[in-house]
Amino acid sequence: MSADALLSRLERVRKTGNGRWVSRCPAHDDKGPSLSVRELDDGRVLLHCFAGCEAQSVLDAVGLTFEDLFPERIGGDIAKRERRPFNAADVLRCLSVEALVILQYATAISRGEALTVEARSRLALAAQRFQHGAQVAHA
Ligand SMILES: [Zn+2]
Repeated sequence: MSADALLSRLERVRKTGNGRWVSRCPAHDDKGPSLSVRELDDGRVLLHCFAGCEAQSVLDAVGLTFEDLFPERIGGDIAKRERRPFNAADVLRCLSVEALVILQYATAISRGEALTVEARSRLALAAQRFQHGAQVAHA
């Protein structure tokens, strides 16, 4: 199967290159494109939510299974089998919402507002997401 069956079930799909797309993640309330989809030359389809959803949750949300994307393998995180499988520009697209989160809190700090515990943990989460993005991105 090609990536088409997956892409046809996603919202706000944008082709970012040959065999590469970003879209809204169907597994969480996604404001920007957090999901990166890649079709490899051998036909396998990789997907990754940069907000942290498991691949299984993304597939469940659109009614597909790992067998639909990658017939030889059942279950597991297929993205982890590829070293740095995602294009750096796509990773940045998927993390752009996180930059806005940081800006929002930085603005509050510059106004002298104290950050709540929730705000501090949300900032820590944004930092984690950028670090994770750097780990899975290739130039
Ligand atoms: Zn997600």
